Amino acid sequence: GGTLYVVATPIGHLGDISARAIEVLKQVDRIAAEDTRHSGRLLQHFAIQTPMLALHEHNERNSAPLLIEQLQAGQSIALISDAGTPLISDPGFNLVRLARQSGVRVVPIPGPSALICALSAAGLATDRFVFEGFLPSKSTARRNRLEQLVREPRTLVFYESSHRIVDCLADMVAVFGASRRAVLARELTKQFETIRQDELGALQQWVEADSNQQKGEIVVLVEGWSQPDDDVLNAEAERILQVLLEELP
Ligand code: SAM
Repeated sequence: GGTLYVVATPIGHLGDISARAIEVLKQVDRIAAEDTRHSGRLLQHFAIQTPMLALHEHNERNSAPLLIEQLQAGQSIALISDAGTPLISDPGFNLVRLARQSGVRVVPIPGPSALICALSAAGLATDRFVFEGFLPSKSTARRNRLEQLVREPRTLVFYESSHRIVDCLADMVAVFGASRRAVLARELTKQFETIRQDELGALQQWVEADSNQQKGEIVVLVEGWSQPDDDVLNAEAERILQVLLEELP
């Protein structure tokens, strides 16, 4: 049978495509792309002439079985998404799961992903982290989701769209508190790349005051919850005791 290649493509800077990705995209029988017009520009840039077909969230369930038949018949297919690594907040899960279930060989061609790119430069703990993808778009649902994460000790990583970033930060301040540290990673690998670490409250004010920070593609990282340590608690107990003692007759 043929092979299904899962190929990562750039998240902005075209120079980030790997030599192996180009080679595979040239050599396969077909490229399954999330948006064929969008990917057409990428393929043209690298003089890749492989025919494309559309595989997006609306047709993936119906198309996947057909693609599996073609793979089993010996065709090789490369799966790409609009940017970064397929399946990471992008289509492809149904196809890859079905391929595995059907005994089709699945080969990853690694490369950029905004998640790892942001983590690598954020300066927050990376030994353990949680990828939360996109938060719900409505505020009530978004706050509920954030409430469930208040005591999560691992670094939290979210994808957010630029037109919701102001509301999202407001909800994060409300739920996590203004002094929790966080990082905004915007337009990674692109001309206006901006990575800023500060307390959530300060980040919210900065983004609200500067409409340029409300444009483009954004990853939001939030430091994990840390238990106030014993020294801090003891000092606080001492202080309260002192206040009480002063009030005593
Ligand atoms: N599959 C992609 C990956 O591996 O990163 C993610 C696709 S998801 C539909 C798009 C989201 O990823 C954006 O809303 C943004 O949160 C994040 N993203 C993608 N490219 C980015 C970039 N250059 N800078 C910052 N965030 C980016």
